[in-house]
Amino acid sequence: MPDRYAVIGHPIAHSQSPRIHGLFAQATGQDLTYEAIDGGGQPGGFARALENFRAAGGRGMNVTLPFKLEALACADDANDTARLAGAANALRFEAGRIQACNFDGAGLVRDIMVNLSMPLAGADVLILGAGGAARGVILPIAQVGARRMLIANRTADKAWQLATEFAPHVATADNCCAIAGAGFDAVELAGAPFSIVINATSASLSGAAPAIPDRALAGARLAYDMVYGKGLTPFLRQAQNVGAQRIADGIGMLVEQAAEAFAWWRGIRPDTGPVIEQLAKPLV
Ligand code: NAP
Repeated sequence: MPDRYAVIGHPIAHSQSPRIHGLFAQATGQDLTYEAIDGGGQPGGFARALENFRAAGGRGMNVTLPFKLEALACADDANDTARLAGAANALRFEAGRIQACNFDGAGLVRDIMVNLSMPLAGADVLILGAGGAARGVILPIAQVGARRMLIANRTADKAWQLATEFAPHVATADNCCAIAGAGFDAVELAGAPFSIVINATSASLSGAAPAIPDRALAGARLAYDMVYGKGLTPFLRQAQNVGAQRIADGIGMLVEQAAEAFAWWRGIRPDTGPVIEQLAKPLV
């Protein structure tokens, strides 16, 4: 009997995870199945679906919106990244325990450093957004040696809170990354040159761009939109227009975080390049 894995979310029909993990299993010769489970919109739906899946012999799950917080809450053990993010995107069921991880940050860092060959060590990084995706990537970016991080959000309070919350943790990362929060219109944001600008807002999903000044993007070595499959988003277009050297969407991050989960579950890391190539849509 093949081992069972799944992704759970609501809605879930759009998820690329079954395709990605199917390709990984094929390429690595792992005997497993991977399905999509809709946790529904009712209270308790996630917990019930999780228990049913475990009872049926499920070995692990990816977790997507809106269940990442509940996934962490139900875990017996969690890694630092998940705990600090306050959310988990991967679960492993082992020896009667639920283990939780958050691989979004590891996926982003690997996409930037390996696939896009952009160093994060010593980088000045601007992160737009202060939601779950931003929370998941701050610590991993600090841990690979970013020099400075500015979290900027439409609702400035949330960015300030996030910076305050993460400051003690990124200060203990090897290189003592400096972190601050701001609103989009802050002088600090307009005046500072950033080498890497990451759009971790959901603005691109509705065809909008975070209202940041051109100067925040001009001269960036990389402008990265975590949203994927939307082509040249308004954020990426703005970056291109003001001379950012390189633009990328989040398909590499998606595939890399999936590969981290696959390796955690199966002890073998699949080659991500061919999968990214199959899923990537042109940025036009
Ligand atoms: P979330 O928790 O709902 O947070 C949404 C964030 O976007 C908030 O900071 C919000 O600002 C901001 N926002 C929404 N609309 C905006 C607009 N029109 N202009 C400016 N800011 C806006 O969502 P999330 O989980 O962090 O996800 C964010 C995005 O990352 C999503 O599009 C998701 O698809 C993507 N993502 C991609 C991957 C990947 O693997 N590639 C992984 C995770 C997430 P306020 O606080 O002011 O409301």
